[in-house]
Amino acid sequence: METAHLELSIVVPVYNEAGHIAASLRVIADTVAAITPSFELIVVDDGSKDGTWQQLVSLSHERKQLTIMRLSRNFGKELALCAGLEHAQGQAVILMDGDLQHPPALIPQMVRMWREQKLEVIECVKESRGKESVVKRIGASLFYRVLNGLSGFNLRDASDYKLMDAKVVAAWRSLPERIPFFRGMSAWLGYKRATISFHVPPREEGASRFSINRLTGLAMHAIVAFSTIPLRIVSMIGILFLMGSVALGINTLVQKLQGAAVTGFTTVILLLLIIGSFLMISLGIIGEYIAAIYQEVKGRPRYLIAEKHTGASSSTTDSE
Ligand code: UDP
Ligand code: MG
Repeated sequence: METAHLELSIVVPVYNEAGHIAASLRVIADTVAAITPSFELIVVDDGSKDGTWQQLVSLSHERKQLTIMRLSRNFGKELALCAGLEHAQGQAVILMDGDLQHPPALIPQMVRMWREQKLEVIECVKESRGKESVVKRIGASLFYRVLNGLSGFNLRDASDYKLMDAKVVAAWRSLPERIPFFRGMSAWLGYKRATISFHVPPREEGASRFSINRLTGLAMHAIVAFSTIPLRIVSMIGILFLMGSVALGINTLVQKLQGAAVTGFTTVILLLLIIGSFLMISLGIIGEYIAAIYQEVKGRPRYLIAEKHTGASSSTTDSE
C-alpha cells in the first residue's frame, strides 16, 4: 500500500451538523495534529440536507489532511462508519462522532496506549450517559441486558468511540455483512483490547439524530444479527406447550372414561387464544430472521459514494 506510512486515520460520520461541524472538526484536527503530523481526517457526510457538505468542501480546501465523502443518501451511522473504515489508510483508525460527544481530549491517551502497550483495540466506555431522555435510557439498558444475555458479548455502556489497529480494521473489512451492527462486530473480532471510561458531554448543537423509532429498529436488527437464541426459545415454548397438552389430554380422557361430563368451554377458548397468539409471535420471530437473510442475499452494496475529495488541492469526484 503506497500510503502505509500514514500513522493515524480519524473517521467521523456526520448527518445534518452544519451548525457546528467546522468548529468541531477544527478541535479534532488540532488535537490530532499535536500528536502526529502523519494523519488523515475522513469525514463521511451521511446524506445531510442542511449545508454540511458545502462546509466540508470549503474546509477541505484549507486542510490537506481532510478527506471528505458524501454518501448518495442517508444510509445511517453504521454504514457511514463502514464507508470511512473502508477508506482509512492509517496504521490505526479512530472512529468518533462529529458532535464532540466523544471528547477529543481522550485521543492522546488512546494513541499512547496503542503505541506503547501495543494494544489492538481501545474502546471508550460511557461512564455516564450525559443528557438523555428517560425512555432512551431505560430502552438502552433493556436492550443491552437482552443482547448481553443472548449473544454473550457485554456491550453495556459501549460506544462507537474506538481506536482500532490496522490489522483489526483489515479483519473487520473481511466480515461480509451487508447490514452491519458495528459494536457487536467489533466485540466479535476479539484482539488485545483495553477500555477507557468517559463521561458523555452535552451535544455541541441540536438534538440526537436518533429517534426512538430508529433505535428500536437498530435494536431488533442487532438482536437478530447476533443471536439465534430467540428461535430456540420458540422451540422450547413449543415443547412446554406439548407437555401441557399431553397432561391435559390424559386428564380429559380419564374423566371421560369415568363417565364424568367434560365441561370447559372457557378452557377451550383460552387455550385457542393463547396458542394462536404464541403461533403469531413465533412466526414474527422467524420472519425477522428471514427478513435479515433476504437483506443479506440481495447482495447490494452497503452504501453508495456520490462524491469524494481528498486533500487541499487534488479533488476526485466520482459522482454519477
Ligand atoms: N449520524 C450519521 N448518520 C445518521 C445519524 C447520525 O452519520 O443517520 C452521525 C451524527 O452526525 C453524529 C454521530 O453519528 O456525528 C452520532 O449521532 P448523534 O449524536 O445524533 O447520536 P447520539 O449522540 O445520540 O448517539
Ligand atoms: Mg451525539
